[in-house]
Amino acid sequence: MRRIFVNPFREDGKWFKGNVHAHSTGSDGTRTPKQLVELYSGAGYDFLSITDHGVVTDVEGLGNAGFLLIPGEEMCIGRTHAATPYHIVALGIKETLPFKDFDRDLDPQLVIDHVNDVGGLAILAHPYWSGLNNRDMMEIEGYHGVEIYNTSCEYERNTGFSGSHIDDIIVMGRRPWIYAVDDHHGAERPLLPLDAAAAWIMVKSDSLGVDEIMSRIRRGLFYSSTGPEIRDISIDEEGVISLECSPVKEISFVSTPSLGIKYYAEGGPLTGASYEGRQGETYVRIEVTDSEGRRAWSNPIYNEPEN
Ligand SMILES: [Zn+2]
Ligand SMILES: [Zn+2]
Repeated sequence: MRRIFVNPFREDGKWFKGNVHAHSTGSDGTRTPKQLVELYSGAGYDFLSITDHGVVTDVEGLGNAGFLLIPGEEMCIGRTHAATPYHIVALGIKETLPFKDFDRDLDPQLVIDHVNDVGGLAILAHPYWSGLNNRDMMEIEGYHGVEIYNTSCEYERNTGFSGSHIDDIIVMGRRPWIYAVDDHHGAERPLLPLDAAAAWIMVKSDSLGVDEIMSRIRRGLFYSSTGPEIRDISIDEEGVISLECSPVKEISFVSTPSLGIKYYAEGGPLTGASYEGRQGETYVRIEVTDSEGRRAWSNPIYNEPEN
């Protein structure tokens, strides 16, 4: 079986940690852009995109040699089959999008196409929270990725995990990259954990610059996490996929939904697993869970269609 995978673990460079979805006082966040830079750089992040609603917030001069800001914006537009709006994160755009935010009659495809035209990446935000179904996600195209995990949605509404939404569209032929993000807003409510520095992507890159990080993300040279570290992914000539990771309690090779496999730690934690795949699978993506319930996700590994 021939696997199709852009493997960040076979690419030169260093790992850079970043959050590509966050809100500041530029829209409905509680912290100024400067406070967000302090929060994320203090938490060991290397980069951040402030993606305020309807505006590219000015971050000029806020970054430094060790901390990168990637401009971005989020738009809430259109109408799904459930009559909810789509939320689309536009990563790496330099100017505010020429559309009215919260325009329920605006076709989300126009936004995605524009983001691509100006060299950005469109990411479908929090499908579960948005009430997106697979028809909603199949009727639009050209988006680079989909959020598999969104901290803010999880903490506030228990709707942060969108793995099955993503698997649905992969089965139907789409090939998205998958992202874990914070979608930080900083809302305060008793006992509500702070939606910051809790989810991230790890990007393999030679250097920490907007163009370099964006091009590595575009190529899919990243994985997502809320805690565990993926240390290696390899694929041998027979198509056997092997993973090495920090100690976890479960390793799943998620695939065409009735297939795939899940391994459990026995005695001590798991730090790796292999999977040869099964007949009929069109993809495999790896998801690990540690003893505290934190997860990491590889990007999907696609199988070349058999004919
Ligand atoms: Zn949103
Ligand atoms: Zn958001």
